[in-house]
Amino acid sequence: MALTVEEITELFQTQGVGQYGGEAINQLQHALQCAHLAERSGASPELVAAALLHDLGHLLVQREPAKQAGVDDLHQFLALPFLRGVFPDAVLEPIRMHVDAKRYLCQVDSHYQASLSPASLRSLVLQGGPFSAEEAAAFMAQAFAADAVTLRRWDDHAKDPAAAPPDWAHYRVILEQAASVGLAEPVR
Ligand code: FE
Repeated sequence: MALTVEEITELFQTQGVGQYGGEAINQLQHALQCAHLAERSGASPELVAAALLHDLGHLLVQREPAKQAGVDDLHQFLALPFLRGVFPDAVLEPIRMHVDAKRYLCQVDSHYQASLSPASLRSLVLQGGPFSAEEAAAFMAQAFAADAVTLRRWDDHAKDPAAAPPDWAHYRVILEQAASVGLAEPVR
């Protein structure tokens, strides 16, 4: 069931031209911008890979009609079975938690919610809204939660129609690096 890096590349080349959830850029541009923000921050190959792949679930199942009908697409979970065994938890877990990281930031950062785009605010409601203080504490107690929050902030800023990040070939090399980290560790 796992996808190879080549298959992931094909998915972004064929499905990545789809609009990024009501924003002014497409999925491929969003992924590259998010990975670029991670790379410029000095993130590990695993976290750059997570930034690149965090919305892969959107490419696997196009569910925009469901979202418009008021249903959460749960895209943060859809990609995980396709990445497990190829990438380590340092890639998988920030992807899994990147929606909860938005709910977390709404609780702990009083300016955060007001900074969200209209599309992101609409999906926040479908995703369950801001965490309570207790939910926020439980979220941060998980491994890789801090990485998920960092990824979330890159995600929120990776919506610039004028940005010019490096192309897929550049990040494909980093994907291969992150995948080789996964192969060096036992699959958990
Ligand atoms: Fe995103």
